[in-house]
Amino acid sequence: MAAAIALRAVGWSVTVLEEHARPSGAGSGISLWPNAMRVLEQFKLADQVRALAAPVPSVGGLRVPSGRWLTRTAAGSASLPDVVVLRRADLHSVLLGALPPGCLRTRVTAVGVAPAPTEAGRPTVFARGAAGTTELAADLVVAADGMRSSLRRHVAPEAGDPVYSGYTTWRGITPAGTLSTGDSGETWGRSAKFGYLPLQGERVYWYAELPAPAGRRDDNERAALLERFAGWHEPIPSLLRATPSDRIIRTDVDYVPKLPTYVRGGVALLGDAAHGMTPDLGQGGCQALEDAVVLATCVAQGSDVASALDAYDAGRRPRTQAVATAARRMGWISEWGNPAAVALRNLAVRLTPPRIALAPLSRISDWAPPSI
Ligand SMILES: Cc1cc2nc3c(=O)[nH]c(=O)nc-3n(C[C@H](O)[C@H](O)[C@H](O)COP(=O)(O)OP(=O)(O)OC[C@H]3O[C@@H](n4cnc5c(N)ncnc54)[C@H](O)[C@@H]3O)c2cc1C
Repeated sequence: MAAAIALRAVGWSVTVLEEHARPSGAGSGISLWPNAMRVLEQFKLADQVRALAAPVPSVGGLRVPSGRWLTRTAAGSASLPDVVVLRRADLHSVLLGALPPGCLRTRVTAVGVAPAPTEAGRPTVFARGAAGTTELAADLVVAADGMRSSLRRHVAPEAGDPVYSGYTTWRGITPAGTLSTGDSGETWGRSAKFGYLPLQGERVYWYAELPAPAGRRDDNERAALLERFAGWHEPIPSLLRATPSDRIIRTDVDYVPKLPTYVRGGVALLGDAAHGMTPDLGQGGCQALEDAVVLATCVAQGSDVASALDAYDAGRRPRTQAVATAARRMGWISEWGNPAAVALRNLAVRLTPPRIALAPLSRISDWAPPSI
């Protein structure tokens, strides 16, 4: 939807195909770093998004399961960029509201794409909906079909399946009015991580991360989490108790191995389809927003689609792959289980001033979009 908004802003006519009745993952929260908010500023949607988010928490940082802070920063401090947190469903509504009626066609699945055979040719999408399978020709196809993209192989045939990181996440939002928290942050234990962020309406968005075999499910996810996080500081047990088990989303954390290209024959991969990354820096969606505005600018400035897509690939691949590598490294460190390694990690975090510890994150979130 972000790519559609950006492309329309540079004068293109766009059709978005969505296989479900509504976009997936709507039952959870999302954090938008300043790099993503600058894209939304360009779309003139930043104020709407901010109005749906809770105020930035007064305190944030990293703790250990007993509740002792390893590092703590106050709202508005120079070291921690302001992060806007809202429900995904609300972000989707804002993006959808910026598109004209009929632009989004739901319950239509893109089952394949044929890149243009020559530079002068056009790519074709094969789409399956209630009326059967149809062919849609376009000047440009944006394959933004997520981590498990089925279109990716048409652009980068050598790409294998996404790789399982070895850990799984659980996400939830507490029902409105049950709990509120003025602080936010992550707590790192041994091979376990828990984070929470306030949302509007006295709701809290929380997530947990644990090593687990891929594809497993527990009959009662909440009971299993309560057991695993028993003894962790408040509000962690209360957040889990407040969230109905059937509202907890369990996701195996995958990532897309580095692709040699994001473009081929008038088709551009965008978002998780191009660079699905582990969520450890909260940047996957932010990078998708960056992709959208860069793609539209390249298309507006390029002499033809082929040269525009080359510029998009050159502009996006190095940055997004570097962010994905940084996210994986962060996930790896936060999942350490060896007691000596964990003690050393915690000591290093405690002794490093937040300004220095958070510098890599600031470098990512300092990004500013080109003007469309
Ligand atoms: C636990 C967790 C926490 C995260 N937290 C954050 C965060 O705080 N901040 C952040 O920026 N990112 C976060 N991310 C990453 C973020 O969710 C993704 O990077 C982002 O959703 C990618 O957007 P996308 O549009 O590329 O893909 P998706 O969000 O997966 O959207 C793809 C869409 O395409 C549709 N689709 C798929 N295949 C087809 C098809 N063949 N035909 C038609 N439609 C199709 C799907 O139904 C879906 O609506 C997190 C990820 C996880 C797993």
